[in-house]
Amino acid sequence: MSDELIVGIDLGTTNSAIGVVESGFPILLADGEGSRLTPSAVWYGEEGQVEVGFSARRRRGLGGVVTSVKRLMGTGEKAASRSPEEVSAEILKTLKAVAEARLEQTVSRAVITVPAYFNEGQRGATQRAGELAGLEVVRLLSEPTAAALAYGLDKLGEEKKVAVYDLGGGTFDVSILELRAGHFEVLATAGDTRLGGDDFDEAILVKVGIDLKKLDEAERGRALEEAERVKFVLSEQDEAIFRLPFFREEGIERTITRVEFETEIESLLKKTEACCRRALADVDLRPEEIEAVVLAGGSTRVPAVRNRVERIFGRAVEEGVDPDETVGLGAAIQAGILSGAVREVVLLDVTPLSLGIETVGGLMNVLIPRNTTIPCKAGELFTNAVAGQTVMKIRVLQGERELAKDNWELGQIEVPFQAVGKGQARVGVQFSLNASGLLEVLTRDTATNEDTILSIESSAVDVADTQVEHMVSESVDHAFSDMSARVFVEARLKAEELLAALEPALVDFGTVLSEEDLLKVREAEQTVRTQLQDEAQSGSLLKAAVEELDDATEQLAALIVEKAMVGE
Ligand code: AMP
Repeated sequence: MSDELIVGIDLGTTNSAIGVVESGFPILLADGEGSRLTPSAVWYGEEGQVEVGFSARRRRGLGGVVTSVKRLMGTGEKAASRSPEEVSAEILKTLKAVAEARLEQTVSRAVITVPAYFNEGQRGATQRAGELAGLEVVRLLSEPTAAALAYGLDKLGEEKKVAVYDLGGGTFDVSILELRAGHFEVLATAGDTRLGGDDFDEAILVKVGIDLKKLDEAERGRALEEAERVKFVLSEQDEAIFRLPFFREEGIERTITRVEFETEIESLLKKTEACCRRALADVDLRPEEIEAVVLAGGSTRVPAVRNRVERIFGRAVEEGVDPDETVGLGAAIQAGILSGAVREVVLLDVTPLSLGIETVGGLMNVLIPRNTTIPCKAGELFTNAVAGQTVMKIRVLQGERELAKDNWELGQIEVPFQAVGKGQARVGVQFSLNASGLLEVLTRDTATNEDTILSIESSAVDVADTQVEHMVSESVDHAFSDMSARVFVEARLKAEELLAALEPALVDFGTVLSEEDLLKVREAEQTVRTQLQDEAQSGSLLKAAVEELDDATEQLAALIVEKAMVGE
């Protein structure tokens, strides 16, 4: 059992998180103090002690504390005499322990997220960090993809484009993803590896007149901590008081309004906007071509950030997931998919009733049968039934009955074409029904390649159950008479064709036939004419009579063909 478990890990620059899919829901696991985010800070004590998370972060400024080690991954640089892999492994070990305590089982396999722009070296380093922590890294997942998964955007449908705006503590990334067949592909990324919430904290210090460069490490720690607190308050309220008692003799107390803060960070927001525009330009997309925008990273809780993103892309951002949990939850979902905790069930929608068009003789010609899974596409090439016809009327029908008049009409298209002989015009009719039930009927005159499109919304799929039941039971009740009616119409069309050709053929070739054969033809002709009078008759009687006439005129038909071949 424990072998099957896979956890998802967001190994972030500022904070990290670990999650799983539990009883069908992705969740992040909380540590002993109830926190679902673990600061990515590691403290190495002089006697070999190691502390990770909040306690390490609290020691910031006292030496031996490593933060933002993610920036060093794959660079070969060291932090507190350790490789970035070793430091990251400490964070991963802590997360692993949180999960094991919470799940009461060993955890040995993980999906770990990495920035989309990480190169092979950085990815390799992340993988090694996992191994050093005793984890088999079953997949490295790109952070924007994780964010999109957290919002369930993989269910958006084909070829959707998504933007992920990720503003964390110290880094900014924007990615443009494309969803193809349920998988995301990163089309473009842009960003700034030195831009994030830390800069917002410093902006607040500038506002209160504190110059970080003039402070010692302990003072810096205090100032930054207060600036972050004020920033948090300003995400919720219009003003906050920055207060540092006994700071550098007199202490500081100053009210900061949200408007002042927003003015101070304007240039930072502009930078992120430029990155968004660059990412879009890189793949030749306009903002309106993006179908969903997702926020990730704690700094997107700042209202001015969110407003800016909505302005850049001209649409509301997706709602419902905490921005600092987005990537972790996405990693948990991916882990769930890989471990089988998330089963890939495609919920299929089907057409409740058949869709088709009316063809000659008032018959229903089904293009998409009832119960076909959508999305689907079907089409046929039709030709004109009458010479000199200049327009083909396409009636779009829905229903199970054989005769067009008994089905429901969803719409009509008239396709004009040049007058030509019978059967010479060719009009292609294609039905495509998309996943949301929109039926698009495309007709094309193959002579001119001119298209006409008719869109029919919702009615193609959204039919009340009672109506569907009614239509289906009617079609069953009338199955016999409907079928007979269809056979009759088909036989009548054939009869009309044969009878129309008969007189001229007899004028040309009547003398060639023996008297006996001629009599047979005339008798068969008479039977067909009699049967044609009586529509209430079973269609099979007319059909049999037409077949007889067809046989009787076989010799005539051969002569006509011969004549045509000689080219008279
Ligand atoms: P992350 O790297 O995604 O964990 O983001 C961390 C950054 O988000 C830090 O700079 C935090 O100060 C910032 N942050 C978290 N919560 C808020 C908030 N409510 N308002 C403003 N910034 C926040």
